Amino acid sequence: MAQHFIVVGAGMIGLATALGLRQQGHRVTLLERGAAPSYTETTELRVSAIAHHSRQLLHELGVWSTIPPARVGPYSAMEVWDHDSFGRVHFTAQEVNQADLGAIVENRVIETHLWQAAAAAGVTLFAETAVQRHAVEHDTVWVETDTTRIQGDYLIAADGVRSPLRHAEGLPLTFWDYQQQGCVAVIQCSEPHGGCARQVFLPTGPVAWLPLADPHLVSLVWSADNEAAKQLQNATDADFIKQLQAVSDQCLGQLQLASTRAYFPLRMQYAQRWVQQRMLLIGDAAHSIHPLAGQGANLGFGDVVALLAVTESSFEHADLRAWERQRKVAASQMIAAMEGFKRGFGSASPLLKLTRGLGLSFANGFTPIKRALIKSALG
Ligand SMILES: Cc1cc2nc3c(=O)[nH]c(=O)nc-3n(C[C@H](O)[C@H](O)[C@H](O)COP(=O)(O)OP(=O)(O)OC[C@H]3O[C@@H](n4cnc5c(N)ncnc54)[C@H](O)[C@@H]3O)c2cc1C
Repeated sequence: MAQHFIVVGAGMIGLATALGLRQQGHRVTLLERGAAPSYTETTELRVSAIAHHSRQLLHELGVWSTIPPARVGPYSAMEVWDHDSFGRVHFTAQEVNQADLGAIVENRVIETHLWQAAAAAGVTLFAETAVQRHAVEHDTVWVETDTTRIQGDYLIAADGVRSPLRHAEGLPLTFWDYQQQGCVAVIQCSEPHGGCARQVFLPTGPVAWLPLADPHLVSLVWSADNEAAKQLQNATDADFIKQLQAVSDQCLGQLQLASTRAYFPLRMQYAQRWVQQRMLLIGDAAHSIHPLAGQGANLGFGDVVALLAVTESSFEHADLRAWERQRKVAASQMIAAMEGFKRGFGSASPLLKLTRGLGLSFANGFTPIKRALIKSALG
């Protein structure tokens, strides 16, 4: 039976949820406090490494083919190394008989095409409309903005890591602060990136260069402990590039800033309840993880796929609870993997340095371990 879903938040996850529900024949209203997404020729700062299963969802929603190829950076190799030891691992899509390992796409580009598809499919879209109040009752939900009140059957909070709806509902969080900031910027490199995603682990955090569609442009994600991040933030552009050049081991030749820099606090968190009567949390509202493996949005797209499997036929509250249990397992596995990586590589202890140097070299020469690493990169 068709239901009326109210989705709050037009990030990638809220929009994919709204569009999928609408395509199943449900009535959907989506509210976004910011402007409707759009993009220009300039490369956006925020990008995501879109894994195969997320690409498949976007394909099934009819959106993937609408994204201009000039904004899609498929990557077919990954190189990970430790700045302080001899450890290095390199793997290619070919090793697992794939054409690529995923694609780097700007978040804003995906959001814009999802928004356009949602409008065409008949989702009722409100931009520049913040939800101020909401209520979840036994058999109905409603939201209030400054100008209107909308009633529906289910409320989906896709309102991001700070989720005002989760907060207002008083849903408890488990979290720990990584005490790190993520710096993002677009970088021009004199050597072509060759479709390889590169990541070096420093004692202060990982630095990733993600290949964009332009062979000489990469998206930088530099995660650094708060103290180191503060120094980066205070550095002039010239000093920043000097430091970046030094940690890059010259893997991309001469580097130049091609954008401003932006900083995000990094924190792991997950809500202890994702289903509260007729309200659901999804995407970053339910969980957020360290960006070092580029899996945050992929985890959110996984939530969407699993939810759409529930809503495609008539469902009961117990089905939503089963969805919550299934996705909590996926999120906690990912959180544990990220923590393991972070702890293993974040230490300057000589013994750990030696172990990870040996470990990476061993992994590089040993196909089963490499396959496991590739599998985790594929999401
Ligand atoms: C530095 C960095 C790098 C990352 N790299 C990757 C990567 O490579 N791969 C990957 O998979 N993930 C990556 N991630 C994670 C990814 O960016 C997030 O998981 C993803 O963007 C979350 O999408 P979302 O739709 O859940 O939330 P958001 O994109 O945060 O969307 C939430 C929306 O809700 C709206 N909103 C909030 N409150 C209200 C309200 N009251 N009323 C109306 N609207 C409201 C907001 O305006 C916003 O548009 C990275 C994250 C960081 C910080």
